[in-house]
Amino acid sequence: MAAKQRDYYEVLGVSRDAAGPDIKRAYRKLAMQYHPDVCKDADAADKIKDINTAYEVLSDEAKRSRYDRFGAEGVNQPEGYGGFSGGGDSPFGDIFETIFGQGMGGRTSRDGSIRGDDLRYDIEITLEEAALGAEKAIKFNRMESCDACGGNGAKPGTDAALCPQCQGQGQVTFIQETLIGRMTGRQTCPRCRGVGRVISSPCVACNGGGRRRKERERSVKIPAGVDTGMKMPLRGEGDAGERGGQAGDLYIVFRVKDHELFERRDNDLIVEMQVSFAVAALGGTIQVPIINGVEDLRIPEGTQSGHTFTLRGKGVPDVNGRGKGDEHVILNVAVPKKLTPEQKELLRQFSESLGENVPEHENKSIFKRFFGSN
Ligand SMILES: [Zn+2]
Ligand SMILES: [Zn+2]
Repeated sequence: MAAKQRDYYEVLGVSRDAAGPDIKRAYRKLAMQYHPDVCKDADAADKIKDINTAYEVLSDEAKRSRYDRFGAEGVNQPEGYGGFSGGGDSPFGDIFETIFGQGMGGRTSRDGSIRGDDLRYDIEITLEEAALGAEKAIKFNRMESCDACGGNGAKPGTDAALCPQCQGQGQVTFIQETLIGRMTGRQTCPRCRGVGRVISSPCVACNGGGRRRKERERSVKIPAGVDTGMKMPLRGEGDAGERGGQAGDLYIVFRVKDHELFERRDNDLIVEMQVSFAVAALGGTIQVPIINGVEDLRIPEGTQSGHTFTLRGKGVPDVNGRGKGDEHVILNVAVPKKLTPEQKELLRQFSESLGENVPEHENKSIFKRFFGSN
């Protein structure tokens, strides 16, 4: 079942003459929207794949021009199809780089070295920490280069010997009989797996593997503006590589806890406030909570229940430094539950001044006497 090829511009929802930054913006928006951690739609994974493919092409001048001229066929050539290169103009471009979620896992390269695994650390933070930024200590386990043998896997004092099978070449010649005759070729040496050296007496501490699991503690700087589901890679902080391979990355995955006062919607904060009927009717100033304190809010005369005031720029900052969200204050006018007789009398007078008909006394007590409770 071949998937229908959609137009890349259409996928990102941009015009054919869209400028690079617009394409990037459109991509980020969609990537956030359909990120599997956020979007629970069954086809979210397919969508994100389409979005990534489209962006990979349209964000690259050369690929984009090939696509414009030759269509998808023009760009889907295997050469040079390296992964994605993240947004260089943003201090937190890294956070978004992970959205296309290149798999976390080891890679073996041609020289036999293996890149260390990427690790994931889930961190729960408060809304305040998400909004203001924070520094947190984390503790995690990772594979590190064995300090007993310096990572080469040989017992200290001994040395790795030249691989007898490939004589240190790392590759061996193989001969294969086929229908069309004898074929020869080169392949990675199976004995030393391409390293060219073998260990005769392995290091006891790491069993010759060259790595040991260790607990690490470090602090993580949380940039202001992160939200649930965002991932921040710390390059080279994952498992150490093997046989000279690069270290993996450590991904910090954020979850922002619910807040007792604020509700977060993207970078905006929403808070509900109660005011008395008198303040709503006559106007006044109330104090409303903001993420790092309180702020005076002037209530104009005659404010209706449910009215929303907006405190510009009092929301959560954009994680990429593009401004700040707002805080929306929803005002609820509270009806008093307990009034003194004097207050009741004043309210009655007020009501009468509006021409309303309010009974002087409650009749409930009389009914109660005759018919019992209620
Ligand atoms: Zn060792
Ligand atoms: Zn070998």
